[in-house]
Amino acid sequence: MTKVHNFSAGPGILPAEVLKQASEACINFDNLNLSLLEISHRSKNYEKVMDEARSIVKELFEVGDDYEVLYLGGGASLQFAMVPYNLLRENGTAAYVNTGVWATKAIKEAKLIGTTSVIASSEDKKFTYIPKGYEIPKDADYLHITSNNTIYGTQMQAFPKSPIPLVCDMSSDIFSRKVNAKDFALIYAGAQKNMGPAGSTMVMVKKDALGKTGRKMLSMLDYQVHIKGGSMYNTPPVFPIYVTLLTLQWLKKNGGIAWIEKVNQQKADALYNEIDRNSLFYGTTAKEDRSKMNVCFLTNKPELETEFDKLWKEANISGIRGHRDVGGYRASLYNALPLESVKALVEVMQAFEKKFA
Ligand SMILES: *Cc1c(COP(=O)(O)O)cnc(C)c1O
Repeated sequence: MTKVHNFSAGPGILPAEVLKQASEACINFDNLNLSLLEISHRSKNYEKVMDEARSIVKELFEVGDDYEVLYLGGGASLQFAMVPYNLLRENGTAAYVNTGVWATKAIKEAKLIGTTSVIASSEDKKFTYIPKGYEIPKDADYLHITSNNTIYGTQMQAFPKSPIPLVCDMSSDIFSRKVNAKDFALIYAGAQKNMGPAGSTMVMVKKDALGKTGRKMLSMLDYQVHIKGGSMYNTPPVFPIYVTLLTLQWLKKNGGIAWIEKVNQQKADALYNEIDRNSLFYGTTAKEDRSKMNVCFLTNKPELETEFDKLWKEANISGIRGHRDVGGYRASLYNALPLESVKALVEVMQAFEKKFA
């Protein structure tokens, strides 16, 4: 099989060994001579998967038993609704920072559930920077932020010091770098960007943040119901959770967050250095807010785009076409992407410059 350099923004690249283990589990899981896809989620064998998938998140985030981990369906998009539904009191206010398309969608759902205040936004410059220095209202029920703006390629390099419970959509940079997880009341992430395949969403919540809304809760939307059910109130997305577990085990085995943070820094440095050096390309965001996960760039000779496209396709590069809102190119450097793939892209950019500059 030809090696393809996979820069897909999501679902994103997974480690090759994880794909192999996952495919084996589809045929014969745990030496049961049964597929993981055809056994009960209540079986001992699967309960072990769920227990480990939950505990490895707490281990990687270095939090204790005051936090619970859930795997839910519905994508990160369902969390846009579940967060206010579970944390926003009937007469309360929720504070949001708007840093892009996903934050905008989160705000839209929160507004349907209660009073919502957008306390900072970078919409004025098409979400090309991260707002800073805003005041956080002390009487709001929580502050919602998005750590990494997948579409526009910006990332919070520091998190706001929040006097109120801090909630974070970490879908596209979870476990890519060290964060102080204890500063957050709730972290959620659709798995398909940086921690597994599509189909499950991880929610890590501090237990004492729950049960305060005064609202009658629909069972499936109630974190406490899922906590009580051990994340198996209903049939969980068994296979995506298993592959997520394998991916996190791969991360841990290779050196954990400290290791991947270094690798991710090397990858981002290699690509941004080339963007800044190369006379035919430029970055689209404020330099200090550049994302190490999603690198957006344009060529200043758009008429040559088809020529560049030819070159990267010949080099077995895939998935760098920019989001339709930004155009140009977006290279996603998720955890499973090796440095050699970034080097392959840099070489193509250099060859392009040599030929056309
Ligand atoms: C992709 C993405 C989402 C949406 O995830 P779904 O699982 O498709 O609902 C939300 N937030 C961020 C930051 C994302 O990158």
